[in-house]
Amino acid sequence: MSMTTPKLSEQDIRPVELMAQQRATAVTDVGRMLSRYGEFVAVDCPACGADDARPKYQKNCISYVECRACGTFYVNPRPSPAVLEWFYRGSPNYAYWNEVVFPASEAARHQKIFVPRVDQLLALCRKHAVATNALLEVGAGFGTFCGEVKSRDVFTRVVAVEPTPDLAQTCRKRGLEVIEKPIEQIELASTELFDVVASFEVIEHLFAPREFVEHTVRLLRPGGLLMLTCPNGQGFDVEVLGTASNTVDHEHLNYFNPSSLGRLLAGCGLELVESFTPGKLDAELVRNKVLAGEFDLSSQPFLRRVLIDQWQELGAAFQEFLIASGQSSNMWIVARMPRTHA
Ligand SMILES: [Zn+2]
Repeated sequence: MSMTTPKLSEQDIRPVELMAQQRATAVTDVGRMLSRYGEFVAVDCPACGADDARPKYQKNCISYVECRACGTFYVNPRPSPAVLEWFYRGSPNYAYWNEVVFPASEAARHQKIFVPRVDQLLALCRKHAVATNALLEVGAGFGTFCGEVKSRDVFTRVVAVEPTPDLAQTCRKRGLEVIEKPIEQIELASTELFDVVASFEVIEHLFAPREFVEHTVRLLRPGGLLMLTCPNGQGFDVEVLGTASNTVDHEHLNYFNPSSLGRLLAGCGLELVESFTPGKLDAELVRNKVLAGEFDLSSQPFLRRVLIDQWQELGAAFQEFLIASGQSSNMWIVARMPRTHA
């Protein structure tokens, strides 16, 4: 699926002048998380449930393992749900993003991330002929997506699920209808179910992704669509950079790929509709790491040519190839609630 979108650059969404301080708060956060390492717990593969993984990375004393059955890699052992709740509640890194980075980059984020995201979601609704009475976003944050989708006047009802009190308040100030509860506590009558449930960049943070999907499925009406985005653990910049990738961090516990996430959704009773990787930044992210001296491509002449020496000629076409071939490290997946329950 292609559509005209404004050019997105890393600088737009992560202004370089703000990121030194952000890195400092992230280091503090890693230390906080590791201070409760004794409460980390071992888990099976979050996508397929197999207990057959090999070590993949160590970064900041955190272990990432890769499932031999489905290729998902994941933090194991991982912070318990209680540790995660404590971690996010007191995170100086989150506070810095919320108070400094997001406000400073909000206009660019709105135009270059949220507008295209809404365009994409509405195009998927038309393509798959889903009703547009009610949309629910799980993990609405500042409500930027919900505000934008509401402004299009396609859905009659747009609801934001946001359990964090400050963020829920921000959503309400934008005039949004908010459910201020964790998803597992939401109970709906069959007449209140949603045509579309969407969740962007949430599932990779969760202790128990399968439970999250199971709770989400209960909110969809028969024939309704679930749309998720998350990093693709087999995408270009994640696989090339490995532990040098900013995506590989202590907050991201789950690194699905299109196939493994499809398997997870199917295991929760959904019909897989499509998955694709529309990420725009893979090539630039690797290039920026090389230019910053944080990653070495001297033994990779092909990548050095594409990403550095002939960037002007080849960079954009290379990124288009990654998107078209499903190899970008940002993915969407769409699944449908069956019309009749078994
Ligand atoms: Zn697996």
